[in-house]
Formats: sequence, structure tokens, C-alpha cells
Amino acid sequence: MFEKATRPALTWASLDRAAHLREDRDALIALRADPRARALPFRKRDPLLVGEDLGTLGWRRLDDPLVAGAELIFLGLAQGAPRYAASLGEVEPPEGDFVEMRASLLGGAFGGDDAAIASSALALVNWHRTHGHCARCGEKTAMTQGGWRRDCPACEGVHFPRTDPVVIMLIERDGLCAIARNVNFPENLYSCIAGFVEPGECIEEAVARETREELGLSTGRIAYVSSQPWPFPMSLMMGCIAETTDTDFTLEEAEIADARWLSRADVKRLFDGGWDDMAPPRKAAIAGTLLHDWVDGKIGWT
Ligand SMILES: [Zn+2]
Repeated sequence: MFEKATRPALTWASLDRAAHLREDRDALIALRADPRARALPFRKRDPLLVGEDLGTLGWRRLDDPLVAGAELIFLGLAQGAPRYAASLGEVEPPEGDFVEMRASLLGGAFGGDDAAIASSALALVNWHRTHGHCARCGEKTAMTQGGWRRDCPACEGVHFPRTDPVVIMLIERDGLCAIARNVNFPENLYSCIAGFVEPGECIEEAVARETREELGLSTGRIAYVSSQPWPFPMSLMMGCIAETTDTDFTLEEAEIADARWLSRADVKRLFDGGWDDMAPPRKAAIAGTLLHDWVDGKIGWT
């Protein structure tokens, strides 16, 4: 519906996931022996970033002592060369530094294709770190299929990486949009509201429910705009736009500290730093993309 919508950060990575190779044991062994193979080390949840401003992925050869003994997750192929994530414990960086990815991304030093690749890697690293035991019988599970599955030796249960769907919505009323300050946001940050999709809900139902719960607004038209993987720890943000005719907010006090209606000119001023008491969402987050696109007239009904 909104063909001109901007692609959010962390999407359309150049890496070929080569999913057909995950079940091919011989192919996986051959890939490990490829001299062009590289692994991206993670110290717990933090990727190794190198270069000026720590903006580049710190790929290591597979015989590098840092990653040589580590369990490797097969991410895919970069121009035919295998790429892996290596999940490590407490280690010293050989160069650069292990960096908290969310802060680095939002800070703007790290982005583009590197961030999109690291996003998949981090979601998988996070999943393996928290799903070491079988959800059916409690036994320890083992990584299979190049890291895209965990199998239970006791009950033969198979477990696939998890992605948690979240709706995030720009709410529009007659040329205005609603922005809100979550109680957990940094001071002065205003953004779109968001919430997890519950079991049994479609995207539109989740948008309508969250909008009613958090801001007390009923919704009319609801449309999907674009989505963004958000690996903190393993979400998929589904960006939507929703229409309302209600004017007065009824805030969910446990979650929302304040909400305001802003015009396109007001939002533009927000991004230009023109408000003393409000700061905008960062460009790398889909809320920033949605709001920029709305200001530019790429999305919206009014
Ligand atoms: Zn089991």
C-alpha cells in the first residue's frame, strides 16, 4: 500500500543464507575447510567491531585461536565465502572491541550491511544462549543444522530459533500523529507505541489492542508498512499505521508517561532538535523510519 516507504535499518543483508546447505552434513564440513571462511566473534551478546569508530565487523579466520574451539553458527555465504558467528564467553578482544550492539547501532557508528548481518547473528546467538535445554523434557539439547536447530537426544524433540513478533505503530488523526514517552525510555525520548503480538492475534488486532490499552484510542483503518528484525533479544518489529478519530488520550500509567499530538511540521522540528523537552527516536530504529516517512508524505492517509 505504501510503496514509497523506506527500508528500515538491519534489513536486506547482502549475505546469501544458503539454507539448503544446513541439512547437508558433507557440505557443512567442506565449508569449514574453505580458507575464505570467517567467523564473527561474540563475547556473550557483544559482536567484535573493529576499525575507526568501531564501525566494521571483526571477522576472524577459523584457525584464529579466538574462535578455533568455539561452536560456530553458519550464517551463509558472502560471494561464496562461508560466514559464521562464534559465541564466546569472557575473552579479550584481539583488536577493536566487543561492543554492545544496540547502543552502537543507535549511536550511528555502526550500520548498513554489516549491521544487517550482525542482526541475524545476534538473534541466533541470543537464542542459543537461552535455549540450551529441551522445552519438552528438560534435557540438554545440541546444536544441529549449522546452528539453525537444536535437537534433544532424550525425547527427540527438535527446536527452531524463535522470533517474537512486535507491532509498532504510527497513529494518525487528521494530519497529526501520536507520539508517546514510555516510562522506560531515556529522558525526553518520544516515539511510536509498540507491543508484543499475543497468541491468536493478527497484526491488526494487536495494533488495535495496544493502541486502546496504552493511549485509550479506538482505531479505524490499520495498514502494515514495513518490518525490522530487532535482535534485542530476538524480535521482529512490524511497522504499521493506524487511523483514529479520537482526540483525548487515556494513558496506561504503568507504561506511558506522556503522549502528544504532533503535526508534520512539529515532527520535522523534533528531528531537527527544535524542542527542549522532546527528543526523537534514532534513525536506526523503525520508529524513526516511520516518522521520517510520515513527515515526507511517503506514508499516511491525511
Ligand atoms: Zn527433550
